[in-house]
Amino acid sequence: MNIAVIGAGIAGLSAARALVDRGHTVKVFERGRVAGGRVATRVIQAIELPRGLSGDVAFDYGAQYFTVRDDRFSALAAEWERDKVLAKWAGRIVSFDGEGWEDVEDTTSRYVGTPGMSAIADALARGLDIEYGSKVEALAPLLNDFDRVIVATPPDQAAALGVTVPVVTMMPNWTVMAAFEDRVAARFDAAFVNGSPLGWIARNTSKPKRNWKIDCWVLQATSAWSRAHSADRSDDVGSFLMEAFDDLIPAGLPKAFFASVHRWKSATADPPLAAGAIQNDRITLCGDWCKGSRIEDAYLSGIEAATLL
Ligand SMILES: Cc1cc2nc3c(=O)[nH]c(=O)nc-3n(C[C@H](O)[C@H](O)[C@H](O)COP(=O)(O)OP(=O)(O)OC[C@H]3O[C@@H](n4cnc5c(N)ncnc54)[C@H](O)[C@@H]3O)c2cc1C
Repeated sequence: MNIAVIGAGIAGLSAARALVDRGHTVKVFERGRVAGGRVATRVIQAIELPRGLSGDVAFDYGAQYFTVRDDRFSALAAEWERDKVLAKWAGRIVSFDGEGWEDVEDTTSRYVGTPGMSAIADALARGLDIEYGSKVEALAPLLNDFDRVIVATPPDQAAALGVTVPVVTMMPNWTVMAAFEDRVAARFDAAFVNGSPLGWIARNTSKPKRNWKIDCWVLQATSAWSRAHSADRSDDVGSFLMEAFDDLIPAGLPKAFFASVHRWKSATADPPLAAGAIQNDRITLCGDWCKGSRIEDAYLSGIEAATLL
């Protein structure tokens, strides 16, 4: 069959790969310039570095790491490990209860793409026919040209194409990327934060194969705070969240020589469906929101979409 896939996030890529493996002809349409969607790494170009600092300033500004639970995903993760596309992140992760820090005592293995999270999307995208910079505005032309269409976008973006989509609330997320002249005086690499507008903070540079010479942090506001402030100006959000970060570091923050703010309009489903993927005549919907809120869910949703065809 001739199949169109809309969206080169993890779900779209995994559906496309599974279909190509079964001998179908697949074309992926992606509105962005790179694959990955919410699995995203930003390398800051042409930035003047403070004296004594060198190398890349880079941030995983979407998904921070991934976990592996399902056999179908672990087979792929093993392949990525062999090809050095991923590495285990052994950073010290703590949780903050509003008063003090405590080590997160879990047995979860956390993996990251190397040298950035986007490496896993690049690996999935390799060899696929992907048209970048190609935003699909309507389904009718694709339904004329292809036997089947897989819509692998968040639900609001699928609905904008005129597809019937179950009601799923996608929560936004405000994210700050900041690089500091000196090392932030934190005795941890990442933290789940309670009692703050921030829900997660991470020293990006503590992940394997990053440029450890420059202290780069990613700060994510909670879903609730992000929703309450979704219409705020990004400059105001950036200043406010940097102050919230400063409040968490007793010694105070060193000077940031770079800071940027990103708003994810559709970050995580609250709650997601338990459908896997949804078949609607010649149109199939998939994405993390059909199954869960993680990279692994997006991957499995793509695989499940491919099996419905
Ligand atoms: C801030 C944040 C932190 C997160 N942290 C983690 C984490 O630590 N661990 C974890 O496992 N998960 C995390 N997640 C969730 C994880 O990123 C997602 O579950 C997963 O990436 C979703 O993949 P997807 O393919 O379903 O959707 P997406 O990644 O959203 O991909 C959809 C793609 O469709 C494209 N698209 C949309 N509309 C169109 C159109 N009309 N035409 C063409 N292309 C279109 C988009 O550009 C995008 O590339 C996080 C997400 C966010 C936002």
